[in-house]
Amino acid sequence: MSQRTRILAQIAGFRGWKVKEAHWESRDGRPIVPIAGYDVPADARLVLAMERRWVSRCAQCLAISGRCHERLRPRRWKDLQALGHPVEIEYAQERVDCHRCGGHGIELLAWADPKQRQTRRLQQLVALDCFSMPTLHVATKYGLSWSTVRRAEEAAIARWDRTCPDGPLHMVGVDEKWLGRRHKSTHKFVTIVSDLETGKPVWIGYGRSAATLSAWLATLSKEQKATIRLFAMDMHRPFMNAVRSDDDLRHAAIVHDPFHIVKRAGEAVSELRRREFFRAGRELRAVGRGTRWLVLRAWERVGDKDRVRLKRLFSINGKLARAYQVVEELRQVLHAPDRASMVTGLSHVLYRTEKRANVPMRKLHNSLTVHFTEIVALGEHHPPTGRIEALNNNWETLVRRGRGYRDHQYLLRKLRFLAANPVRTRDGVRRFVALGLPYPDRKAAA
Ligand SMILES: [Zn+2]
Repeated sequence: MSQRTRILAQIAGFRGWKVKEAHWESRDGRPIVPIAGYDVPADARLVLAMERRWVSRCAQCLAISGRCHERLRPRRWKDLQALGHPVEIEYAQERVDCHRCGGHGIELLAWADPKQRQTRRLQQLVALDCFSMPTLHVATKYGLSWSTVRRAEEAAIARWDRTCPDGPLHMVGVDEKWLGRRHKSTHKFVTIVSDLETGKPVWIGYGRSAATLSAWLATLSKEQKATIRLFAMDMHRPFMNAVRSDDDLRHAAIVHDPFHIVKRAGEAVSELRRREFFRAGRELRAVGRGTRWLVLRAWERVGDKDRVRLKRLFSINGKLARAYQVVEELRQVLHAPDRASMVTGLSHVLYRTEKRANVPMRKLHNSLTVHFTEIVALGEHHPPTGRIEALNNNWETLVRRGRGYRDHQYLLRKLRFLAANPVRTRDGVRRFVALGLPYPDRKAAA
């Protein structure tokens, strides 16, 4: 090994590998011979041809094999830039005769996982950038294609995902999500199952029927079902039916989360507002204009200026005022500390909605009555329902950026990544990037 290749091997940093030869290439792949031994164009690419120093290992079972079954043609892997130049690694992989697993698998590489075209450390950095940048920007930054960035990101997130396996499920959140307007698939919704203790989604399926949820339940063993204490879901009937029709889940409680109950109540107020102002005169409509989102907001979250607007609206229309009050009361009731006070509170809300002659409030009354058991179960079980709201926000982010709804495995991983947010702190970022480092020792790899 010459002085030059020794330094290059040290910079590359793959233990058990040396640089056999290094040369420059132009952007379109022609070899460059540096003039007078020094100058290369700024966009010249450095190609490092690697050579193994130790015996080969099977990438499937990590056993030392040593025997070559077949040598494949040289391949390239994109690596991190070095001193402003793009770098590629070149190596002709072997198929090994593995005595442990008996296969003819590919040999283990220090820099990349099988079937990947970029080094692990490049993939981790690409994924880190994808967290905050559009895929197109990341692709331009690293000189990769859009789809390569997407695949590299997925590989990096999958690597992270393997470092944090799921524990047993105790509290399960089930939620249906709309895929967005731009989506062209036959399924307009997905069902997301998440672990309420960690907030991480565990499963995604297309559709929102009882069969969708049953498909997930079918993947669970009897023991796994036995640990589930509770299902938190919206007021969507099919999900309840799916859980209730499973004999192994008789013990599990079903609760409706406050987020969806309040959303349902908000819909009633919204509809009432629309009905009230539909036939109203010009003067009245002027007052009602632009209050669509205002009437959905909790009073404590309404600013001073908007409170004045709401008060004026309510002084004109008593029906709407009473409906708004009922929703406010419902919001309070859902925070009740125990079952008994929740029953009392909810009964009072029902007493108030029952007397309403208007149709939207009547409909709200009916759906609250039908779901009475599941709502008061909230006071008994206290599921961490903030997680459902957090999941909702992460979902909005994903769909707004228009990402990945064609590939539900990608969607699931990305949501898990967003929910856990491992790159929130400096240490977290370091740990995430470190997942791409070469294996520290050949013993550690065994
Ligand atoms: Zn093997």
